[in-house]
Amino acid sequence: MIQELQQTFHSIIKSLEVLYVIEGIKPCARILVFEDELNKVNDFLNEKNIFTAVSDFKALKHAAQSEFYSDKSVKIPKNDARKGYFFIYLSRNKETAEKAKLMEAKSNHLELGLLLGYPKCCCEFFQRNFNENNADLTLKALENSNGCEFPFYTNIAARHFDVSLLSHFPHSLGCMPSIEIAKNNLKMMQKHAEQVAGMFSGILKSAVIYTMEEGVFLLRKHEKVDNGLMYGDVLTTTKSKLYYLLSSNKKLGILGKNDFVVSDVYIKGHQYGVMVFT
Ligand SMILES: [Zn+2]
Repeated sequence: MIQELQQTFHSIIKSLEVLYVIEGIKPCARILVFEDELNKVNDFLNEKNIFTAVSDFKALKHAAQSEFYSDKSVKIPKNDARKGYFFIYLSRNKETAEKAKLMEAKSNHLELGLLLGYPKCCCEFFQRNFNENNADLTLKALENSNGCEFPFYTNIAARHFDVSLLSHFPHSLGCMPSIEIAKNNLKMMQKHAEQVAGMFSGILKSAVIYTMEEGVFLLRKHEKVDNGLMYGDVLTTTKSKLYYLLSSNKKLGILGKNDFVVSDVYIKGHQYGVMVFT
């Protein structure tokens, strides 16, 4: 089924969201669909006995941080001449899909999050911290977390590479209800697409340098050494100066969750996050 879903929804993350709803492990999902593909997607979902509600507005994607994922989008009227994306709310329950659409229209993030099946602690975290200028809560989640080592289930940084087991921001990277959701999602993926599940687990077990301005970096195949890590290749969203620094050195000294050193260059500040997922 994964292949069939990918033909319709393109991105793996999006296809998985739909799979979780079809399989009944997620009560409702919210996905962006390009307006020219709206009918095709609706037909596909209705055939699978999934109800849909379509937003009364369109979204223009921001010049994205990555080709797969953008946290930012600009709302425009649905009859605007510019081509845009609609939000589709999908559920096996018609009322849930309609209600999710309504809650988004009212900007009620808390209720919307609960309808989408996210943990209450994370919905409250989102409600408290989200605003138009701060749509990416990854570093905020890190701020709420103890230390910088986490189970790979909550690696939300990899979403920039179309890899994630969660579609919400966990309130902390150790959030237990989020880890439970991620584990269930991985199990479902193993059932339907074992190879994809293996690829996901491999990529999620990366160390991450997360920045708002200089890119997101996944340091692959990391191993612990004194005060830091050795690592292999580096995946990046941006070929920035920091990327070249990280990829031309294979060792990272970790001084704290916002504080690291590469080849005698000390980098520190709340705009930088260090996360090690195992
Ligand atoms: Zn939580």
